[in-house]
Amino acid sequence: MFGKILIANRGDVALRVLRACREMNIPNVVVHSTADADSMPVRLADESVCIGPPASADSYLNVASIITAAGISGADAVHPGVGFLAENADFAEIVAAHGLTFIGPEPRHIRSMGDKVEAKITAAEAGLPLVPGSPGAVHTLDEARRVGADVGYPLLVKAASGGGGRGMKVAETADHLAEAFSSARSEAKAAFGDDTVYLERYLGQPRHIEVQVIADCHGNVVHLGERECSIQRRHQKLFEEAPSTVLTSEERASIGSIAAEATRRMGYLGVGTMEFLYENGEFFFIEMNTRLQVEHPITEAITGVDLVREQIRIAAGMELSFRQEDVTFTGHAIECRINAEHPETFMPTPGRISAFHAAGGPGIRVDSCLYSGYSVPPHYDSLIAKLIVYGDDRAHCLARLKRALAEFIVEPIPTTLELHERLVDAPAVIDGSYNIRWLEENFLSDDKA
Ligand code: ADP
Repeated sequence: MFGKILIANRGDVALRVLRACREMNIPNVVVHSTADADSMPVRLADESVCIGPPASADSYLNVASIITAAGISGADAVHPGVGFLAENADFAEIVAAHGLTFIGPEPRHIRSMGDKVEAKITAAEAGLPLVPGSPGAVHTLDEARRVGADVGYPLLVKAASGGGGRGMKVAETADHLAEAFSSARSEAKAAFGDDTVYLERYLGQPRHIEVQVIADCHGNVVHLGERECSIQRRHQKLFEEAPSTVLTSEERASIGSIAAEATRRMGYLGVGTMEFLYENGEFFFIEMNTRLQVEHPITEAITGVDLVREQIRIAAGMELSFRQEDVTFTGHAIECRINAEHPETFMPTPGRISAFHAAGGPGIRVDSCLYSGYSVPPHYDSLIAKLIVYGDDRAHCLARLKRALAEFIVEPIPTTLELHERLVDAPAVIDGSYNIRWLEENFLSDDKA
């Protein structure tokens, strides 16, 4: 096992990794920017090293500083967490070149899944069902028109280097293709420095269902079921649940084994998530995330598996501590992302927290770095807490969630807690009939995002 793990992240993600290190008795060091000097992970870690000023580019994305911090502190492994450098293949390579272990997949997998065109080709070779679309990148409008004639409309133009829903434009009909094609390319160029795009059929009312996979270096590959993440705003997930309300146990076992088999064929190592759109009983692969997901706790809640612990064990060359036949799905779990954002305008609301009280009691898990007196910095992602609720079944879980939301106090900054309080009473949430368009088109209908 590792002698010391360096945690190259911040906020609740750093705390999550720190908790696993503590339980495994592994010494740890957290890196931080000057803006995070008073943060909870810095307070709780064995050691901390300041790696730069507030801007992420100068601190959490500053590879030279992070590697230097690892050298100074004597760490022998680096956990990248979620976001920042977690899906940066160059970083994974540099970590390895310095004799350190990167706690994550091999650089070749991060790289091939990071390019969505290549990812789709790899996924097809590994046997995953794809959204009908262009076989690879599309470079000219003429080529795009040929794909459109073949696949039909509406058509989605997507950035090969895309992420966070950026560089995605819908062409409702052939007449809109030229506009969608050029605006997706220029948005992609501006956001990712790469204007490569590809085309997919734009599915009308699909659900976003993703499968958690995990693989060790001894040939063991296991799937841990699905998470339903259809409640999204601007392609950003806000509320996730496991299991999905729409899958039968046969569908679950089938897509789970398809995802696990694809993982095996790729020779993938570590934790990963295969994301699918699901419509009319069919699954369509959209991308694979080569890291831990923000919503991983709901899988942990219904399977009892500690994904971060397994991730660390796998990186240390150990075997997965369970097999597919040991995995059982019990009860129901929901995660609410509590963001420092105005619940109606979604404008960020950084600032000082004067009062904080996390919900508690049976079935409640809160992953958060908040405390009374903490100032939410304006420089980073607005996620400040994850409320994870477990119940014996979905109705029990929803009842607990409503109770937990009423207990949760974050003052005085506005947060998305209020949105979640309204969500739990929405008929489409209660009966689980929502899809990826529901939040924006029905629930937030005055927000024409
Ligand atoms: P990103 O990496 O930017 O998050 P994804 O490919 O994962 O991009 O897609 C994000 C979201 O965009 C999906 O969860 C879904 O809501 C929507 N989306 C993506 N592809 C399609 C499609 N072919 N049809 C309809 N919606 C889509």
